[in-house]
Order: sequence, then C-alpha cells, then structure tokens
Amino acid sequence: MPNKIQAVRGMNDILPDQAQLWEQFEDTVRGWLRVYGYRNIRTPILERTELFARSIGEVTDIVEKEMYTFVDQLNGESLTLRPEATASCVRAVIEHNLLYPGPQRLYYSGPMFRHERPQKGRYRQFHQVGVEALGYAGPDIDAEHIVMCARLWRALGISDVALELNTLGSNESRNRYRKHLVKYLEKCRGELDDDARRRMHTNPLRVLDSKNPALKELIENAPRMMDDMDAESLAHFEGLQSLLRDAGIAFKLNARLVRGLDYYNLTVYEWTSGSLGAQGTVCAGGRYDGLIEQIGGKPAPACGFAMGVERLLELMQSTPHVAAPAVDVYLVHQGKHAQHFAFTAAERLRDHGLAVVFDCSGGSFKSQMKKADASGASYAVIIGDDEVEAQQVSVKPLRETGEQTCCNIEHAADMIKNQRG
Ligand code: ATP
Ligand code: MG
Repeated sequence: MPNKIQAVRGMNDILPDQAQLWEQFEDTVRGWLRVYGYRNIRTPILERTELFARSIGEVTDIVEKEMYTFVDQLNGESLTLRPEATASCVRAVIEHNLLYPGPQRLYYSGPMFRHERPQKGRYRQFHQVGVEALGYAGPDIDAEHIVMCARLWRALGISDVALELNTLGSNESRNRYRKHLVKYLEKCRGELDDDARRRMHTNPLRVLDSKNPALKELIENAPRMMDDMDAESLAHFEGLQSLLRDAGIAFKLNARLVRGLDYYNLTVYEWTSGSLGAQGTVCAGGRYDGLIEQIGGKPAPACGFAMGVERLLELMQSTPHVAAPAVDVYLVHQGKHAQHFAFTAAERLRDHGLAVVFDCSGGSFKSQMKKADASGASYAVIIGDDEVEAQQVSVKPLRETGEQTCCNIEHAADMIKNQRG
C-alpha cells in the first residue's frame, strides 16, 4: 500500500465541525467592517522577496528566519509566501494608484506563512484579518482602529483582552533615541545575549522587545523613548489617548512596546489575552507613515492592524456560541422512478430557498430515515412509487411530533418555509 501523505507541519486542515466557527467569525467580521466603511482588497499570496525585505526590515525575526522563500525555477526570480499583508496591500495601492482620488479604508483577510516552531497559537500557515487606512495622518484614524477592535471583541463575545499602547515618535526622534540606546547598550555589552549583541547596531530597538528574562532589568533601566520625543509626536499621542478616553476604551501605556516590524512610527499597540498562555497577542498594529514612500510610492501617511484568526477563535471557543442551523430537508427516495422524480423535486425545493440534502446512499427506507435524522434536517421529504404515481411528496417532520402529510411540491415548500418562519 502506498504511504499516506500528510499535511505540511504547522499547516492545519480546518475540518467542517471547526469551519462552522470560522464562518461564524467571518460573518461577524464582514458586518463589522461594513459598519466602519472598509472595503476589501485581495492580493496574491506570493510576492517578490524584495518587497518584504524592504518593508518589514532585513534585521527582523520575520525576514531573518521566518520567510518561505524560494527561487522560481522558470525564471530565477526570488519569491516569498507572504508572512503578512501590509506590504502586499501597500504594493497594490501604489501599483494601481489607489490613493489618487483620495485616502482609502481597506481590509484583507487570508492565510500568512511563517517558518516558526509550531505550537499552540503559532502555526506555519495561519490567518489574519487586517485593516489599513492609507492617506490619513490621524490621530483620529488611529483611534478609529482601536474602537473598531473593541467593538469586534464585543461582537465575538470575547471579554478577556487588554490594550497596550505606545508611541515610537517621529523618525527624527527615533534616530535620536537610537543613538542614546546604542550608547547604553554598548556600556552593558557584557550582560547582553547573542541576539541583543548582534542587533545592538543593526536594530537596537528590537533589543527592548527581547523575551530573555536575564535582560529584563537591563531593559527596565534603558533610556526612555519619551525623553527624546518631539512636541508633534507627543501631541499626536496625546490626541489619540484623549479620543480613547472619550470612547471609554481602557488601555495601559507600555514604553517597551516596539513591535517586530521595522516600518512603524508614532502609534503602536497590541491587544493581548490572559487566557491563551504564551501566545497571548491576538491583534497588533500601528502607524507606518514612511512605508508607502519606502516601497516606491508618493509619500502618504498610513496606519493599520492585523489580528490572528486562530487565536481569536480559540477565545471564541471558550464562550458559548449558537450552532449553525442544519439543513431544512433530507430527501428520502426508493426506486428508480422515484430517484428521478426526487432529484428534480430537490431542485424545485432549492428554488424556494430551502436547504436540501439528497440521499445518495441507495440504502433501505429505514437506513435513509436514520440518515435523515442524523443530518439534523427539520423534515424528511419522502418519495416512493406511490408519490411518483400521484406526482406528490410526503413530508414528515423530524424534530417535532406531527403527522406525515402528502401534497404537491409547491405546497410542501410553502409549508416548510412557513414552519421555518
Ligand atoms: P508574536 O509576537 O506572537 O510572534 P508577531 O509580532 O510576530 O506576533 P504580527 O506580525 O504583529 O505578530 O501579527 C499579528 C498577529 O498575527 C499576532 O498578534 C498574532 O495574533 C498573529 N500571528 C502572528 N504570527 C502567528 C503564527 N505564527 N501563528 C498564528 N498566529 C500568528
Ligand atoms: Mg512573530
């Protein structure tokens, strides 16, 4: 016997029982995005490697070690499975001149790929829903994104999430701070770990994000970004905070929050849940005013966020949710003539908007009725020789007590629809 072929490690199948929750999530998300006036953009899963290297930053976890990159054998081009979609979105916006008529509110959703060690809440193919607002300088739009998130958590029935907020300042203030930080890190060189020593000159801010407990105190005592911040950056941050206070959004300021991608400036934030263990961040975002120019577009401010769908579903699972409705009708039939009549009857019932599962087992009447019951259908519509003869169908309620009735198809459809309400 040939070997079984298995899925790639860290890439999950989403089976029908689980997919029900995904669809419920997607329905909620779509309604939520509409309420805020965001429009969908869909970009390819593959992009040129250079796009991610240039936008996310060469010295970041993603670009250094997490990307699925390969050479297209047909033309020698280096391609990468998208590890995130902000870069793709910005590329498409520039390529198609979408900002020409004015700012854009966009969203995307779909799979992302990162070569990480698979564990709970961390996969090699995972899914994000992300929102990008391009051409808006804020801080009102930054605040809009945050209140949007809060509304979505409520709609999904998720309560255990908290917001942490920081500002990275302008590029100028960040460069000033960078110098102070490097000086400090050089002074403590002996206490740094390999990662930190390596990044000290290439990407020193990332050292603040280190998860190594041995560096905790050193990080605590590092110079503060706030001290190098210019008045304009502080005003933006203050403006955001006051809008959030007005909206009744609770947040915690975290001066060490720097995020793993290089393109951020000013606002950065993360929503984290206490009930997910180590992989607690469900949503993260911020402002990236320099990115559009960096990848070849006309300079324009922008901000956005992305949420991890698997982690949010994990939180949804721990709150009760309504089961998806089963089908309306299971079509039971017996005999060759009946099969033909039943097949067209099923289509007629569907014309009326009813959900119909047609029996393809060819089993006995009794076994088909068992299948009808197990399908969760509200009714069995039964067709045998007598029904074919009379050009009628028998309708039997499966979930409530009630008589089996015989009538024509249109009648049956009306009756079932009326019962459904
Ligand atoms: P982490 O610190 O967990 O590695 P990150 O900073 O790399 O997250 P982002 O690039 O900001 O994550 O992506 C936004 C969200 O996407 C994360 O908050 C998380 O919910 C989700 N996410 C990121 N990587 C993975 C993954 N490998 N598997 C599942 N979800 C992920
Ligand atoms: Mg990561």
